[in-house]
Amino acid sequence: MTFKFFKMTIVSLFILSTYVSANDQLTIVTFQFKKKEDRDLAARFSHLDILSQNTGKAIVNSYDLKMMKEKIPHLILEAKPLKTTAFKGGPSIKGKEEEIEFPQGDEKFHTYKEVTDLLKKYARDFPTITSLSSIGTTIQGRSMWALKLTNQKNLRNEKVPGIIFMGTHHAREHLSTEVPMGLIKHLLTNYEKDPAIKDLIDSREIIIVPMINPDGAMHDIKGRRYKMWRKNMRKERNDLYGVDLNRNYGYKWGTGGSSSSRRSDVFMGPKPFSEPETIAVKDFLEENEHIKIVLSYHTFSELILYPWGHKNAGVGGKDQKVFEKMAKKMSSWTGYKPQRSSDLYIASGDTCDWVYGALKKFCFTFELTPKNYWQGGFYPGAKVIDRVIKANIKPALYLIKNAIDPYAVLKEPRTNI
Ligand SMILES: [Zn+2]
Repeated sequence: MTFKFFKMTIVSLFILSTYVSANDQLTIVTFQFKKKEDRDLAARFSHLDILSQNTGKAIVNSYDLKMMKEKIPHLILEAKPLKTTAFKGGPSIKGKEEEIEFPQGDEKFHTYKEVTDLLKKYARDFPTITSLSSIGTTIQGRSMWALKLTNQKNLRNEKVPGIIFMGTHHAREHLSTEVPMGLIKHLLTNYEKDPAIKDLIDSREIIIVPMINPDGAMHDIKGRRYKMWRKNMRKERNDLYGVDLNRNYGYKWGTGGSSSSRRSDVFMGPKPFSEPETIAVKDFLEENEHIKIVLSYHTFSELILYPWGHKNAGVGGKDQKVFEKMAKKMSSWTGYKPQRSSDLYIASGDTCDWVYGALKKFCFTFELTPKNYWQGGFYPGAKVIDRVIKANIKPALYLIKNAIDPYAVLKEPRTNI
C-alpha cells in the first residue's frame, strides 16, 4: 500500500464513519479480481465500486458479508468493520414529513417535502408549459411526482416525441434527485430567454420524475444521520428488509448480479415487478408509447451505462451503434466513462434492460459524481450539487433533442471526441 493510498483510505473511512449508521454492523470489503467473471460473481452479493480491472470495494451489511465469506472467500482481500452507530427502529412516516431534514451541512439537498412543494410551485408559475401528476404511490403512500414540460397545445397530440428522466431509485443516491430537479429549473427559467430551449419544450414532451424511491430516501436521512440505505421500504410486520428497485424490473429478472435473499442489499424481490414503485414506472412507460428515450440517474462512479446489464454482450446492430454514439457524445461533456453496463459487472433486473428488452426504447443509466469512495461515495456533500447539475445539462438537452429520432445520431459526422 502506497502512502497516498493509505492516506486516502484513512480519510475516506473517516468520512464514512462520520456519516454512516445502519440497522446493523456495516463492513467495508476490498476485493481482488483475476478475471471479469470474478467481478460478476461478487456482484451477486453486493453493489460494487470497481476501482480497477482487478480491485473493487463494497460496503456490506452483516448478511451479505456472511454470504461472501461462505461463497467467495477467495475474492476477499480485506474486510474491515465500519465504525457506525447502530440504527434502531423501523420505517415510518408517522413523524411529520416537514420535520425530515438532511444532516447538517447538506440541507441544500431537497427532501421529499421540498421536492413536492417546488414541483407544485413550478406547475403554478408555468401553467402553459407544465403539468404535474403522480405516476403511482409508494409503499408508504407517497406520490411519485412527474412534472411534464410541454406546450399545452401538444397534450392531446400523440405524435409529439417524449423523453423521461428519473432520479433516485436507490435511497442513498441523493444527488440523483438534485440533477433532475436542476434540469427542471434550467428548462423553465430559460424558456423565454433561450429560443433553443423554447423550441425543445414546444415540440416535445419532457417528463421528469425526480424521486422513484422517496420512502427510502427519507428513511436514509431520518434523524439527520445518513444510514447507507439502498432499497425501498418493503417490510413484513416490523421487519424492514426492502427490495432493490433496480434489480426488480421484469426483463431477464434474477439471472445474475442480484440476490434472492431479502437480507441482501441487492435483493431482487419475490418476483419481477413486485414493488409499487417499479410497477408505476412499468405502467407509465407502457402507456406512453411516444416516449423514445429513458434516462435513469444514479450515483456514483461517473459512468454512462447502456444495455445489456444481464449478459456480457451488447444489444447488437444499429441500436448498439446509437447507444455507443450517444454515450460517447455525452461523455465529452461530463467526462463520465461510457460503457456497456455489463462491462462493469453483470446485473439483472435493472431499469434499462427492461426498457430496451421489453419496450425497445433507448435507455441510459448515469452514475453521477463522485468517481469513487475516496471522493465521498454516496455522500459527497452539498458543495458538489451545482457543479454536477451543470455538467449534466448538455447531455440532457442532447437527448431531448434526439428524442424525435434517436437514429439520426448515426448520420452525424464522426468526431474524435
Ligand atoms: Zn443506484
